[in-house]
Amino acid sequence: MHNRTDWGYSNSGLIASRGQALLVDTQFTLDATRRLLAAVEEICPSDAVRTVVSTHQNGDHTWGHRLVPQAEVVTSVASAASSCHEMGPEQLTLLAQSAAADNASAYVAEHFGHFDFTDVVVVPPTRTFEGREERQVGDAVVELIDLGAGHSAGDVAVHVPDERVVFAGDALFSGAHMVVWSGSLSGCIRACQVLLDTGAEVFVPGHGALLDRAGVAAIQGRLSDVAEAAGAYAQRGVPLANAARLIKASHAGTWAHPERLFTQAAAAYIEAGVPGVPSGTLALVEGMAALAG
Ligand SMILES: [Zn+2]
Repeated sequence: MHNRTDWGYSNSGLIASRGQALLVDTQFTLDATRRLLAAVEEICPSDAVRTVVSTHQNGDHTWGHRLVPQAEVVTSVASAASSCHEMGPEQLTLLAQSAAADNASAYVAEHFGHFDFTDVVVVPPTRTFEGREERQVGDAVVELIDLGAGHSAGDVAVHVPDERVVFAGDALFSGAHMVVWSGSLSGCIRACQVLLDTGAEVFVPGHGALLDRAGVAAIQGRLSDVAEAAGAYAQRGVPLANAARLIKASHAGTWAHPERLFTQAAAAYIEAGVPGVPSGTLALVEGMAALAG
């Protein structure tokens, strides 16, 4: 059994009104996306989904897109541009099944080895926007918000003002620590503020249970604390791996995956101008694996 805070188990969203529907993200595998579309069918015919908004390009939010072939796939310019840096399903499968004994391979095998990416085809975005874009879905007004770089190199949120709901993608993780792939921890903190400034009351994170405003503020506070601590370690010339261990010891709390604090510390080090900080998916996974072990 897997928890909803485990790697790869993500939240999608549906906005449906008067025969029209917009889907926020698909799922990691085709099986999980089929289950999602079966749930959609309980609300409206799944071919009413004419738009899929990709909150970012990570596979756990996009690899089911091929099962919604009638829909345009919308994301921000920055998000679309980042897709070429993503690990593909074949590469992830190889990594997860590799018999290599190093930390990183063991970590990927443990967390991703049980997913089946057979027949996944990566579907690129078909339309992009910058800043904000308002769309009408039946009677519902939907606002797409380009959050810029934070969790990923380009994050997008979907705001439904009349319902006071925001689908935040991985700009929010609930019950688990944030992964920062982009090297911008300050971007993650800023994104929390943009989400709060919508005035929404309900926030759907990319992973984990729904959040209220206090929950989002708590995440923002935790990220700010880590940014401050990491910035101070960077200033004192503490090596990143040591800083990550110290931050894990003091900031892990009860949230799942405290090893992801490595990615937050690395992002803070990059922003502090420390040379030679590892970036890129594999280097960050190695850092997390080392911190988990
Ligand atoms: Zn995710």
